[in-house]
Amino acid sequence: MKPKFKETIPVFCWGDKIQIGEEDGVAGMIDDPNGSVTLMIEAMNGKNDLDEIVRMVRGQFPEISREEIIHAIQALNEEGYIEDSSIKPDKLLDYDLERYKANINFFSLFTSANESKYEIQERLNNCKVSLLGIGGLGSQILYHLAALGFHNIKALDFDRLELSNFNRQLLYSESHIGQLKTEMAFQRIQQFNPNVHLSITNCKIESSEDVFQHIDGTEYVICVADRPTLHIQDWVNEAIVKARLPMVSGGVMNTRGRFYSMIPGQTGCVQCHVDSKKKADPSLDNHLKYMEKIDFQRKNAAISPNVAILAGSIVNELFKLVTGLDKPLALGKMMEINFFTLGVKEISSWDKQPNCPVCGSAQRDYKKRITEKGSERIRV
Ligand SMILES: [Zn+2]
Repeated sequence: MKPKFKETIPVFCWGDKIQIGEEDGVAGMIDDPNGSVTLMIEAMNGKNDLDEIVRMVRGQFPEISREEIIHAIQALNEEGYIEDSSIKPDKLLDYDLERYKANINFFSLFTSANESKYEIQERLNNCKVSLLGIGGLGSQILYHLAALGFHNIKALDFDRLELSNFNRQLLYSESHIGQLKTEMAFQRIQQFNPNVHLSITNCKIESSEDVFQHIDGTEYVICVADRPTLHIQDWVNEAIVKARLPMVSGGVMNTRGRFYSMIPGQTGCVQCHVDSKKKADPSLDNHLKYMEKIDFQRKNAAISPNVAILAGSIVNELFKLVTGLDKPLALGKMMEINFFTLGVKEISSWDKQPNCPVCGSAQRDYKKRITEKGSERIRV
């Protein structure tokens, strides 16, 4: 082991005190009346192994034992301050280390000295993600995914670019008006990050089978497709449960943004959510039937900074699911962001419903009752 302080954690030697880190409330302070800690920290430059550090410190301070020095280094590791410079990337090239330098510095904040910060970048590079919808939210999400280094992305949309898209769809250019969003996204992402293998599908989702075919072979799904308003979530839910893939989904609702995540088999699905809401509010069924009758379609009311906040939150949730660096915020929960106050709160949560027709025991009966065309749902 060749310990060194992480790039993101500066060390300030203020005379007989040493400050580690610069974030208020997080930085640590160590007393160093005789300069022995300063000497140890100087020796921890990533070039010396533990034996060399001990020799250097004991050369000037023989009264300090080897065990005390090792214990001090272990304590710094437990605080998350140091890394082992002898851990090298497995697959990343010099190009990757430069392109994703700030990513890797960020990941290092979560790794201890026996873990590889590079491995997290490699995990993102190898991860296969499906993105449903590359309109307002989706086009910003696609940028975030490419910037994070997701090198394997499948994106689906059917729309063509319109002038009214450009208040929030930053991926495209006005000269592309009338062109398919998928094809323009492909061109732009190739310019932005040539390492990304972006597979595009021009398809208007009309059934759960359409979704399943798109997500098959990937590992995670982001759904921000919102047409048709009343059916898209059901179709995506069925496909996600069938494919057993984790998903993050969300949408803008005027002054609020909402998002949730689910892992089939672990959390409840979208149908579990609807059923639990119906139990709590029997009038919901009538509301849904009324919306179906008028073929309700949600209109866009969104400004770019708000879309950016929600797009970032959705990708952040996916990042946590993929890397495990932190606990996902929205597993089995509907989270709501107030775009004015920037407050985030849980507005509902749901468990797996044992009798859920999509993910529970009623699944088999339900499947018998859907027609060959998956879009035509028959339910009691
Ligand atoms: Zn369910």
